[in-house]
Amino acid sequence: MPGLTDSCAICRRDFGFSLPRCGFCHRVVCGDCSSRMAGAIFCSRLCAHSFFYGGDEDVGEDSDERVEVEEDE
Ligand SMILES: [Zn+2]
Ligand SMILES: [Zn+2]
Repeated sequence: MPGLTDSCAICRRDFGFSLPRCGFCHRVVCGDCSSRMAGAIFCSRLCAHSFFYGGDEDVGEDSDERVEVEEDE
């Protein structure tokens, strides 16, 4: 995949050059959609916030899968 063009993941516009990527979710963002924070580029303020302060992701998928293998000989 040649990286000559990039399309913004936010506004979907195509650009004839490589666009920066969000430092958190790595989506491509153009200059209009990106938000800078402390010298880093993010696609949204939410990503910037998550990057600096930690994501509030609820990873509550605690699947307790029990596999019982009975060996009877
Ligand atoms: Zn954009
Ligand atoms: Zn992002």
